[in-house]
Amino acid sequence: MTVVLLPGDGVGPEVVAEARRCLEATGLGLTFATAPIGGAALDAGLPALPPATRELCLQGDAVLLGAVGGPRWTPGVPEAGLLELRQALGVYANLRPITTDTVDLLIVRELTGGLYFGQPRWRTADEAVDTLRYSRREIERLVHVGFAAARGRRRLVTSVDKANVLETSRLWRATANAVAEQYPDVRCEHALVDSFAMALMQRPERYDVVVTENMFGDILSDEAAVLAGSIGLLPSASLGAGPGLFEPVHGSAPDIAGQGVANPYGAILSAAMLLRHGLHEERAAAAVESAVAEALAAGVHTRDLGTPAASTQEAGQEVARRIMDRAGSSRTVTS
Ligand code: NAD
Repeated sequence: MTVVLLPGDGVGPEVVAEARRCLEATGLGLTFATAPIGGAALDAGLPALPPATRELCLQGDAVLLGAVGGPRWTPGVPEAGLLELRQALGVYANLRPITTDTVDLLIVRELTGGLYFGQPRWRTADEAVDTLRYSRREIERLVHVGFAAARGRRRLVTSVDKANVLETSRLWRATANAVAEQYPDVRCEHALVDSFAMALMQRPERYDVVVTENMFGDILSDEAAVLAGSIGLLPSASLGAGPGLFEPVHGSAPDIAGQGVANPYGAILSAAMLLRHGLHEERAAAAVESAVAEALAAGVHTRDLGTPAASTQEAGQEVARRIMDRAGSSRTVTS
């Protein structure tokens, strides 16, 4: 099984190195291929998504990305490489789990449709137009991902829309209800995005799986990120028909890049999602997640978590050691 590594820019290479260390510690014997994207590709005189990187990703079993962008490049240019990659991989479902002592939430956001892609789209000095369009097929396939995930969790799906105002939301709600009939063992409820934004902060522990369209999901998943305490802790998976794309939620964090202080747990937990959703290695995924939880509980915290102690590398090594202990392996951790 080949995992394509795209370290990218800023803290990307630092956290991807630790995620790789943890993937190696699972003992699955994965093959790794590394390629440039974003500013790193631009620096090498290549486009932000070099054709060779694109091909490698399409041929791999799963892709693990660090982050792209930073003040050294024209704003938006490195990031365009990532958008192009998501498009090329056709990853329409973005999964963002948020887990704390009391919260266990999975936001499933539609990623390739809606307001961010709809046509026509134009702007003059006095007027601008964006188009919000969804097809039943686009909604169906996304909602199915949410219901399937709920079956392995607490069996509650909250579908978030704005059906009191928007036609796309009325289609969303009707389609979600039709899909729900195929999952009689999962409870389905609907919420309006404005009141849900409030409820999510008031009673986050109440929710299990949230399914929603692109823009609502973009905003709600960033709002929910505050529940975790640090953006450096949060993983994500973007899934479609082909290889999935796995990346921490954070950006390239240029303010702390190169200092060895970045939190690698979001990238390591993204590697766990890669094992689960990309390679169907559930046991290894669970082992990585447990190892991160144990390291956190043992106080192995990077600077963003408030207790100055572990470096990026120390945190990664600690998790890798615990993964290997779990596997009862005598292999040594690479340094
Ligand atoms: P950011 O996530 O990079 O940083 C926001 C804040 O969180 C910073 O203070 C940073 O130090 C901190 N932070 C981020 N990751 C951390 C980690 N692992 N450990 C500890 N602290 C961490 O967001 P930003 O500053 O808005 O963006 C910086 C660059 O990243 C921009 O060029 C932006 O376009 C790009 N970006 C890329 C992605 C991506 O590649 N998916 C996502 C968001 C932003």
